[in-house]
Formats: sequence, C-alpha cells, structure tokens
Amino acid sequence: MTDPRRQVPRTDTLLADPQLAAAGERLGRGLVKGAVRRVQQRIRDGEVAPPDAVDAVLASLPTTAGSLRPVLNATGVLVHTNLGRAPLSEAAVEAVAAASGTTDVELDLGTGRRGPRGEAAIAALVAAVPAAEAAIVVNNCAAALALVATALGAGRELVLARGELVEIGDGFRIPELLGATGARLREVGTTNRVTLADYRGALGPDTGAVLKVHPSNFVVRGFTRAVEVGELAAALAGTGVPLIADVGSGLLRPHPTLPDEPDLQSTLEAGADLVLASGDKLLGGPQAGLVLGRTDLVQRLRRHPLYRALRVDKTTLAALEATLRGPLPPVQEMLAADLEGLRARARALAARFAEAGIDAVAVDADARVGGGGAPEQPLPSAAVSLPPSFAERLRQGAPPVVGYLEGDRTLLNLRSLPPSSDEDLAVAVLDCASP
Ligand SMILES: *Cc1c(COP(=O)(O)O)cnc(C)c1O
Repeated sequence: MTDPRRQVPRTDTLLADPQLAAAGERLGRGLVKGAVRRVQQRIRDGEVAPPDAVDAVLASLPTTAGSLRPVLNATGVLVHTNLGRAPLSEAAVEAVAAASGTTDVELDLGTGRRGPRGEAAIAALVAAVPAAEAAIVVNNCAAALALVATALGAGRELVLARGELVEIGDGFRIPELLGATGARLREVGTTNRVTLADYRGALGPDTGAVLKVHPSNFVVRGFTRAVEVGELAAALAGTGVPLIADVGSGLLRPHPTLPDEPDLQSTLEAGADLVLASGDKLLGGPQAGLVLGRTDLVQRLRRHPLYRALRVDKTTLAALEATLRGPLPPVQEMLAADLEGLRARARALAARFAEAGIDAVAVDADARVGGGGAPEQPLPSAAVSLPPSFAERLRQGAPPVVGYLEGDRTLLNLRSLPPSSDEDLAVAVLDCASP
C-alpha cells in the first residue's frame, strides 16, 4: 500500500504552477497558499485525486482578495442594513475607482498647494440643498450626532423630547450615544406627547442646543402630540439656542411616495440651524454622516478636534459627489419604480422558471423602505413566488439571492432589485433547480 501522503503534491510545486502563480499575483500569495493547504488536506482525506490538485485549488479561490460578495437583494427592503444599505450607482462606483489611487483630494493642482479636503463633495451637497449655507461630511449619522453633541453640548444641556429617545438598530440608542459625549440630556414631555411649553420650560443658561430626532423606524399613534421644527424654530428665535434636526433618511427634497418622511431642504427651510442625515439610506450613496446648515455652526464642528477622528475617506467623498451630481442612484430608482413595470418583470421571470419545470408564479407583494425611514409605509411591489425550499438554497447559491418566506412560499421581491440584475437572478434560480 502506498502512503497517500507521498502522492500529495508539494506546496512549492503547486504554487509554481502558472495558473496558481497568476492567481497569487492577483489575490496575494498567502491566500493561494491557504487554498493549496486545504486541497492538500482533501487529497490526504481521499476527497481529491492528486492530479486534480490545481483545478481544485482554482475552484476554491475567491474572485477577489476580499471576502465580501455581491448579493441580490430580493427582500423587498430597499435600504437593508444587513446587506450594506444603499447600492452605489455606477457613476459612484466609477468615481470611487478613479479616487482609489493617489488623488487630488487635498491638493490644488493649479497652485500646487494644499487645498480644502473634499471641497467638491461639499459643494455638491450645498448645491443639492440650497437652504444650507455650508456642510461637512463625517463617517455616519451617529458620528454626526456625536460631533454635534460634543461641540455644542458637552458640559451643557441638550434638550430633546422623550418620544425621540430612539433606538436605531443593533442596540444603537441615541440617548446613550449623546450621553457618552459629556452632554447632559434634558428630556421634555412624555413618550407620546410634548408641547412647546415643555421645551420653553427646559431652556436656560445651560442649554447647548435643542435636538429633534426623527423616529425613523417606528410610529406612535393615538393620543400623541409633537412640536414641529417650524414651531420650535420660531420659539427659539432670538434665544441664540441652535435647533438641530436629525432627519436620518437623507432625502434631499420632499418625496411624493413618502409624504411623512422629513427631508433636508424642507427642514432647513422650516428653521432648523443644522440638519443631520445618513448618506447610505434614501440618498442612495456611501456610508456617511451629512451635516448641513449655518456656516458659523458648521465651522465650529469643523474646528473641533473630534472632527479629525470622524472625517471620511477620499473614496467616500468621491462616491458622495457622484451620487449627488450623477444619474439617479439605485435606491431612488427603486422608490420611483412603477407597479406595472415590477409586475411585468415578475411575470417574465416566473414564465421562464415555469418553462424549466419550476413551480413559479408572479404575485403582488409589499416592499418597504427599511431601516432608512418611512416605517409602516408599504410600497406596492411584485414578486416571484417559488417553493419554500428555494429560500435557503438561493441564499447559498452563486450569486447569493436573499428572498424571504411568506406562508409556505419563497418570495423574491423585485422592488429592491435593480432591473439590470434580473438576468443574474434568473441564472441563480435556474441553477438552484438543476440537480
Ligand atoms: C439611521 C439613523 C441614524 C444612524 O445613522 P448611521 O448613518 O447608521 O450612523 C441616526 N438617526 C436617525 C434618525 C436615523 O434614522
């Protein structure tokens, strides 16, 4: 009997194979070496024949040196935090690629001197929200809140309504974040009701700012009362106390499909001194925290030492600028999608699957904006309905497709998926069905 170990190709021999050497150049030698080791073990275990070693290594290599993979979002949740929130537009992807190397993010090529960082992205933001005098960009909306609370509220009081002490998700609680900055929270009103008198009663020499936080993932119904930004701004006029509004979703303007969702332009027009939002929710751009509003307040934030710890990378600035200046990003397209178009896509896909012998039908379904805003507002959509066993197999397929189970059916909701992905979706489903 021959020792199977003797037949295991040596690591050096495998790494010297031209195809594996090329893969090493592209993905890194360490990554290929790891794959070689695992295949050698499979040969020892009798799962792979020694002559197939190179093919087995090649088959097990990832397509990129990173392990994050593209996933098709058929959940019907447009902004899905677990799936990376907003997909970038092609224009933004190209801008990211262009900025990824050495780039003029902080250099004025005309004079050869240092220039203001990310000036073009800031200019694009201010152009998109004309009510803003100035803007800065930080890592995410939580960072924007932390910066504002530190710069305007540390050692002082931040006034906010009890009904706005919200948890965004994954244990992220606004009051805990604000408390961690050294600002004292001065809570006003009750969970369901707050009046202008409540706010007025809380103002004093220690007030650093009044903060309004949009409850972006729940609604309070029944015996409720809130104070709108306009009313609050009028009451604060002349007091010198800034009014800060965290609107969350990053809508630039009012959106006809989402009448209850606050937007940056209207909130500033109503009298907020600063507005805060995420870049990767309904704006449809990269992860970022946007702060827009009064020049003097934005300057205070920019000069605060914490700003340096929260500032964004060149690729974020590039993606944000291209999202604002380029064609509508995918999230905006999804919001604008019309039901007949979605139904037609569902019917075409279902017919193709049925032809291949799969029990598939097109059905109407609801979609949602998701953690990005507009809680409880269903968006009409269409889906392909498949047998239940597809949900798990599709999630583990190539490319992975994330749908959901409803009753005893797997639904693939098309509103959260760009039409350009329908072909990939079809291939993934047909792959799953073939034995
Ligand atoms: C989503 C959200 C946040 C957190 O934003 P990130 O960009 O994820 O940090 C803060 N406030 C509101 C109102 C939100 O909706």
